[in-house]
Amino acid sequence: MLPPCCHVCHLEPDQSPSDGARSDFVLVYFADAVNPPPGWVGHPAGAVWFCGEHAPLGADRKHLTSHSALREIDAALGRLPRRLRP
Ligand SMILES: [Zn+2]
Repeated sequence: MLPPCCHVCHLEPDQSPSDGARSDFVLVYFADAVNPPPGWVGHPAGAVWFCGEHAPLGADRKHLTSHSALREIDAALGRLPRRLRP
């Protein structure tokens, strides 16, 4: 499991104001997410972290694959698509 880091703003819990809504990180599972087998350690495929502020961007696109969803989010924000983390 990767530590929380917002796909949109790259915020990490350490950097967020403790009293702000952005301190709530959400792991959004997209359409291509699979449940890892028991005992498996790592970051689940198709799951992406968002901070509380940007979680709706991901939640609205849960029906898409993570690749499509992140591209859409990047496009919606008017920035160039980024590569997915390995
Ligand atoms: Zn964010």
